[in-house]
Amino acid sequence: MPVTGLPPYDPANIFARILRREIPAKLVHEDDFALAFHDINPQAPVHVLVIPKGAYVSQADFASQASDAEIAGFWRAVATVAKALGLEAPGYRTLSNMGRDAGQEVPHFHVHIFGGKPLGRMVVVD
Ligand code: AMP
Repeated sequence: MPVTGLPPYDPANIFARILRREIPAKLVHEDDFALAFHDINPQAPVHVLVIPKGAYVSQADFASQASDAEIAGFWRAVATVAKALGLEAPGYRTLSNMGRDAGQEVPHFHVHIFGGKPLGRMVVVD
């Protein structure tokens, strides 16, 4: 079942191209389930994206379609990456934009990891 609110998975999206190594990225982690790389337009001193290796448009798509092993492996990778970046002790924030109201730009599910300084208010709504 396609997920409401988003088009079907587009294999030409930029993160799919990073996964296929068609375009470069500053990689920080790779395992069977996830790839992590620095965001090209960082919003904090540390801003890393973690993406699943499978073709999932969004958080909703991933939660409904991915296997238990993919889901467990992915979320373990998020924590592993944050720890490897030295963020576990000082703390960090994770965020995932899903769909229009969240302003999701890239239609391949991803989690942002922010850290490196106190991060201020959780959400600012204009
Ligand atoms: P979102 O709005 O949650 O879809 O976030 C997409 C993120 O992808 C933004 O923070 C962009 O700066 C980032 N981004 C877009 N293209 C690239 C790229 N080629 N390499 C790394 N990050 C990217």
